Amino acid sequence: MFQIQIITIPILPFGMVNAHLIRSEAGCVLIDTGIPGSELKIGKVLAEHRLTFRDIKLIVVTHAHTDHAGSAARVRALSGAPILAHQNDADFYSRKEPMTYCTTSWVGKLFLKTPVPHEPYEGFAPDIMMTNGHTVNLLDFGVDGVVRHTGGHTPGSIAVELSSDDMMVGDLIASGILIGGMIRKGRAIRPPFEDNPATVSRELIRMVESGGKRFHMGHGGPLEVREVLRHAQALAKLESNPCVSGECEHLHH
Ligand SMILES: [Zn+2]
Ligand SMILES: [Zn+2]
Repeated sequence: MFQIQIITIPILPFGMVNAHLIRSEAGCVLIDTGIPGSELKIGKVLAEHRLTFRDIKLIVVTHAHTDHAGSAARVRALSGAPILAHQNDADFYSRKEPMTYCTTSWVGKLFLKTPVPHEPYEGFAPDIMMTNGHTVNLLDFGVDGVVRHTGGHTPGSIAVELSSDDMMVGDLIASGILIGGMIRKGRAIRPPFEDNPATVSRELIRMVESGGKRFHMGHGGPLEVREVLRHAQALAKLESNPCVSGECEHLHH
């Protein structure tokens, strides 16, 4: 088993947007790439750990929102590492389809009024395309863990489940309240956008039952298992409101 270190890469301050680097002696896996233009911030964190882009063996993009996929094409060019992502978000990665945003609250509606989600990113074709039911083992990239399809947040959302019991869940869950910075980071909330809360709840409970202890996310966090379970159980009680076309905001670039 490889010893790993999880390095949080602050894309925006206060945990508002994070990417993560999983470092092991056999290589590094980058999880998410931030908004467009984040490669300098990623490079800075690599340098702080005496690493370079060339140490990245794999780029995992958890889903097609611009704050996660935004710099994927650039980081691939700098590192030479393949991009792993799920087919169900492929048309968004290629920019063939505009991304959909199912708002969960006023925060999401407010966020859609900012330039961030509208900022188009450089389209790309993932080098390793996951399909439904497929699991990818990360041992080939020096990390003890698997990548699994979860859906729920977007159709092609994926999560990295590490043998260290750390779960890298992208935007399946978020934490904190934004008032000029993040407060209450230990408190789980729904992310501003979510396709299907019932699926999110089921996937989070599955990860808790399979031994997940710490949950690392794109916004806020990390969260302890007890808080994740509380949130997942509350989500399960929500009126199931899967995103159906017409109810979601489609962004056109
Ligand atoms: Zn998202
Ligand atoms: Zn996000």
